[in-house]
Amino acid sequence: MTAKQRVLSGMRPTGNLHLGNYLGALDNWVRLQDSYECFFFVASWHALTTDPENSGQAPESTIEMAADWLGAGLDPERSTLFIQSLVPEHAELHLLFSMVTPLGWLERVPTFKEMVEQLGLESPSYGLLGYPLLQAADILMYKAHWVPVGVDQVPHIELTREVARRFNHTWKRAIFPEPGAKLTQIPKVPGTDGRKMSKSLGNAIFLSDTEEEITAKVKPMVTDPARKRRSDPGNPEVCPVFDLHKIFTPEPEREACATGCRTAGIGCLDCKAVLLEHMIPPLAKIREARERFAAKPREIVEILYEGSRRARAFAQKTMEEVRSVINLVPR
Ligand code: SF4
Repeated sequence: MTAKQRVLSGMRPTGNLHLGNYLGALDNWVRLQDSYECFFFVASWHALTTDPENSGQAPESTIEMAADWLGAGLDPERSTLFIQSLVPEHAELHLLFSMVTPLGWLERVPTFKEMVEQLGLESPSYGLLGYPLLQAADILMYKAHWVPVGVDQVPHIELTREVARRFNHTWKRAIFPEPGAKLTQIPKVPGTDGRKMSKSLGNAIFLSDTEEEITAKVKPMVTDPARKRRSDPGNPEVCPVFDLHKIFTPEPEREACATGCRTAGIGCLDCKAVLLEHMIPPLAKIREARERFAAKPREIVEILYEGSRRARAFAQKTMEEVRSVINLVPR
C-alpha cells in the first residue's frame, strides 16, 4: 500500500464558525480526511498579523472553533489537529526562509496590498508583510503535497513553491518538495442581509445556532429587492435566499420554488419555509455534535495538545534536516 499524500490547512482562531466558514473550508477538510493524511491547525500567530491587541481572546476562540471542527466531523484519530504556536519550529523555519526571500516577492502578493488598503494601514507591520512566508513555513514544515485553497490564495502557494526552490537551490539539497494548490469550489454563501457572510457584518448564521435562532435569522432575510409585494413575480437568480437553496434544497423542490417565485405562485415566506425544512436537519446534526464537545472544553484542549505533540515530532525531524544543511554550529 502506498502512503497517503499529505494535506495541510489552517484557520485563524475566530471563535464559533459560520456557514461561510463551514462551506468554504471545513466541509471540504472533513471530506479530505478520507483520502489524505491531514494536518489542520489553529493559525494563532497568523491572527496576530492583523489583530495583535486582541490576543487575549485566542484561548477561548480556539476552543470554540475546535468544537465546530469536531462537531462537523474532523477526527483527531485520523487527522492531526494542532495549534501553530505550540510548534515553535514554525517560527524558526519562517526566520530561515526570510533570509532567502527577496522583499519584492512579498510586496507583490495581492492579499498584502488589499489588507493595507482595507485596513487603512499607514505603516503595515513586518509580520503582515511576512504572513505568506510564515504560511510557506507552515506548509513546507510538513512537506505537504497539497494545500486546499480558494482562488484568492493561489499566489500564496506559488510563493511557497518559489521559496522551496530558492531554499533547495541556496543550500544545494532537495529538502522541500513543491506543494500544489488544491482548488476548492467555494459556493456563494450570502449573509442574512445579502452581503457576503461575515462575523463582523452581523449577518452570519453560526454552526452553534439553534433551530429557533436559524429560523429567526432566515425569516426576515433579504430577498429579490424588486419583489415588494406577494403579487410581484421575483427573480431567484438575484435572491440571496435562493443562493442558500442551491446549497441545501434538492433540485425538484428548489426548481418548484424558482417557478413559484417567477410566477408569483408562492410568497417569500413560503419559499423560506422550504429552505428551512432542508437547512435545519443537517445543521442540527452538526450543532448537537459540537455541543457535546463544547460541554467538555478540557477534552478539546487535550485533543489539540496531543495533535500538537504529533505535529511537533514531525516538525523537529524537518528542522534537524534543515539545521544540518545550513550547518551553523560546530559539532
Ligand atoms: S420567492 Fe424565494 S427566491 Fe423568490 S424572491 Fe422570495 S425568497 Fe427569493
